[in-house]
Amino acid sequence: MLSTGSVIDLEERYESGVYPKRPLALVRGEGARVWDADGREYIDCIGGHGVANVGHSHPTVVEAMAEQARRLMICPNGFYNEQRARLLAELVRIAPSGLERAFLCNSGAEAVEAALKIARLVTGRSKVIAAMRGFHGRTFGALSATWRREYRGPFAPLVPGFEFVPYNRLEAMERTLDKETAAVILEVVQGEGGVIPGDGGYLRGVQAMCRERGALFIVDEVQTGFGRTGRMFASEHHGLQPDLMCVAKGIAGGLPMGAVLIGTRIGPLPKRVHGSTFGGNPVSCAAALATIHVLEAEELPKRAVERGEQLLQGLLAIPSSKVREVRGMGLMVGMELKEKAAPYLAALAERGILALSAGAAVLRFLPPLVIGPADVDTVVEQVAAVLEG
Ligand SMILES: *Cc1c(COP(=O)(O)O)cnc(C)c1O
Repeated sequence: MLSTGSVIDLEERYESGVYPKRPLALVRGEGARVWDADGREYIDCIGGHGVANVGHSHPTVVEAMAEQARRLMICPNGFYNEQRARLLAELVRIAPSGLERAFLCNSGAEAVEAALKIARLVTGRSKVIAAMRGFHGRTFGALSATWRREYRGPFAPLVPGFEFVPYNRLEAMERTLDKETAAVILEVVQGEGGVIPGDGGYLRGVQAMCRERGALFIVDEVQTGFGRTGRMFASEHHGLQPDLMCVAKGIAGGLPMGAVLIGTRIGPLPKRVHGSTFGGNPVSCAAALATIHVLEAEELPKRAVERGEQLLQGLLAIPSSKVREVRGMGLMVGMELKEKAAPYLAALAERGILALSAGAAVLRFLPPLVIGPADVDTVVEQVAAVLEG
């Protein structure tokens, strides 16, 4: 086995360079814990950026993947396949009502790309409205709907026709949504933008305005989906019925996969207008079926509510003048500081807790939904300790 130093040297030498890295090499995960190459154990509040909702290497998911991998690893979309058929039916069963078909792909950005293309295709309109501080991915279409200047700047010109409005402000949407608008795309809780929960009245208002003016309502549940916020999909908290719902991250227990759920106002799409080689491959489908089974059998959305409340209340009770605000929904929790988050993330890692940032000043916690109450207590204690230190 390679030493930590050699792994770091190789990645530093041969990886493209786009990722800022922490000096840890992870080798193993189980539940809400991960281990580095030197055998150190961590409570993982990153969860692969909100992917490992059912816990790392869940045995049910591993078994389903392994069995399907031995049987058939790729089945082109020009043929039918049992795993795909069953997953499509399951996705429609668990999705908010009114979503009745799905397009399968391989990532969040691809799900957003597909939704944007579908919106232009079926409305015959081109304008897309997205929110300030929103994040939808890094490919050209998804990036065009993404707010942050650092991500967009070097790649101009992006796809034309995108406009940004402030999040949670219905008047701004009222002024911008017009007869040229193909779609509005929003997150239910803005993730990368700083863990900012959407207001239910706002989200329902935008949905109604879309219906009234002939635009489609795209909800990006890539980060909020599959139990993260305490319901299977965050849309359920607000009774939303999006026309298109993008999902990915937690869908397949750790394997790359994405999907767009397609609403009744859209119906079946014309043949050949979009496609994906790997989308809906049998191994990812088997993993996703097992993941959905585990989410339900272990009541993980309910556990996200309980552990999320424990984490939120624990963080709120930390008496530190460095904290501006603590907010979140289920196990998607952000603690906004009055200073940069990075040094605190490094200090937490030293103490065996891995957490994320969301923008410069927000500590973000996206642990596997299987995290136990004792681990949540430890996280809160260690956050208190580093803020004091
Ligand atoms: C992570 C994320 C994406 C992009 O997903 P990738 O799989 O990295 O392409 C899109 N939307 C939201 C809300 C996300 O959190």
